[in-house]
Amino acid sequence: MKEESGNYQPYSYFQLMEVSLRELLVEKGIVTDAQVAEEVEAMRKRTPAVGAGVVAKAWTDPGFKARLLADGTLGCIELGIEVAALKLVVVENTPDVHNVVVCTLCSCYPRMLLGIPPEWYKSRNYRSRTVREPREVLSEFGLQLNEQMKIRVHDSTADMRYLVLPMRPAETDGWSEERLASIVTRDCMIGVAVPKSH
Ligand code: FE
Repeated sequence: MKEESGNYQPYSYFQLMEVSLRELLVEKGIVTDAQVAEEVEAMRKRTPAVGAGVVAKAWTDPGFKARLLADGTLGCIELGIEVAALKLVVVENTPDVHNVVVCTLCSCYPRMLLGIPPEWYKSRNYRSRTVREPREVLSEFGLQLNEQMKIRVHDSTADMRYLVLPMRPAETDGWSEERLASIVTRDCMIGVAVPKSH
């Protein structure tokens, strides 16, 4: 964790914690340096592109979409995505219902599909206000929903995570899965934005 430029900087509190704990675990033979490196690499590969691939597949394959909505965990396994023991629930946006995900308690998040959560997701402000005044919070994200649109707020827990399946924009007929995936942003899958075709 030291700077490679040669400028020595003292470890921060968390860097020191990380190094101390890791060296202790290696010394005691509980993990190896290679295993730690492997896990860090696996974490780096978890980005919103993984979730976007799932959404694009659901948009283009009705059979897959039905299976994904019935059991999000099994749907991901079908695509070869490692979801461990987590229960994943996929919630579908429709012309009448918009879904948004929060963790009121802490910061539970579908990391296997979206990577590391953004800072605002963990903020007290987002966590408390999204359940009380979701329409107001969404409008602050730039998402204005009409009064008829119902908003469903999903509160994540340690063993249940949610992913929003956004509506496919109308002007995307004939698009490849890859191109479709390119318009599915992290925020669309949390539910604070919707995909745009241009
Ligand atoms: Fe949490």
